[in-house]
Amino acid sequence: MDENGIVRLIQRRFQAKDSSVIRGIGDDAAVLRWAGARNNWVITTDMLLEDIDFRASWLTPAELGHKALAVNLSDLAAMGAAPRFYTVALAMPATVARKWIESLYGGMAKLARRFGAVLIGGDLSRSPMGVQISITAIGEMTGKPAYRSGGRPGDVLYVTGTLGCAAAGLQLLMRGQSQGENAAQKRALAAQRTPQPRCDAGSWLARSGLVRSMMDLSDGLSMDLPRLCAASKTGAVLYSEQIPAFEAAGKWGMDPIELALNGGEDFELLFSVPASKAGRLEKTYPSTFPPITRIGVLSPSRSLRIGAHPGVRCIPLVRSGFDHFQKAQRS
Ligand SMILES: [Mg+2]
Repeated sequence: MDENGIVRLIQRRFQAKDSSVIRGIGDDAAVLRWAGARNNWVITTDMLLEDIDFRASWLTPAELGHKALAVNLSDLAAMGAAPRFYTVALAMPATVARKWIESLYGGMAKLARRFGAVLIGGDLSRSPMGVQISITAIGEMTGKPAYRSGGRPGDVLYVTGTLGCAAAGLQLLMRGQSQGENAAQKRALAAQRTPQPRCDAGSWLARSGLVRSMMDLSDGLSMDLPRLCAASKTGAVLYSEQIPAFEAAGKWGMDPIELALNGGEDFELLFSVPASKAGRLEKTYPSTFPPITRIGVLSPSRSLRIGAHPGVRCIPLVRSGFDHFQKAQRS
């Protein structure tokens, strides 16, 4: 079974109905609203395992703390929620030093402060094999959440930022280039080690009333776009020339488009907007946020296709991003 199949199995067999659950399994985060409460609360869990999701030699404990929290805040951003609280479950070898623990939690705290999130608890355990961190992040939603399922045929597809940058950083690390020789390499390494969750853009987009569907990109566009399409019951056409790929990677013997489609760990937002509102989005989207780029459209047929630009022949999009149960490991 692949990751999607396991999620579907759990969802079908074990998701119970509850009047407080607005959205359960299957989106970037769950959405809860208690009787009488004014706002929705958004909850997500994500874990990082040593030698599966990261290698200890590739990032400092502070960077690891940052990344472990960032991947969770990114899921809150994908719903449009503002981060408020988080808990940390940490398993580590008994030999870990006090300084390492301080740095790890310091990395989390620094990122959390930027978005107003507060540590409220967790759990500790001893691990016989490396470090495992599982974080649960809780966000508050003043408006309506943005779901993966809201997309309609004809919607324009957008992404924030640059795609493939974090994957280029991973390639550099695997080549032993952990310092970075120039600004572009340092940028790729930073994207890989300390991804920036798009919380401000996410909550602006959700509140704008212009966005119909949204998710964050964690496993690569070729893996994540099919998830948005499946939830929205649409297909999609991507235009490769429009994808904001990390072009610098081309000079390092990497293929920027392949990194953008299959690389993963970008933690940018993917979202759809009705074609009639795309102009307004582009006019009103704050210039201080990471830029947004049109990369394609949602289509009525359920297929996923990619072409160079509108009007030319398209070929099927091959799903080859990251799946925990299909590839041996990311690192
Ligand atoms: Mg997500």
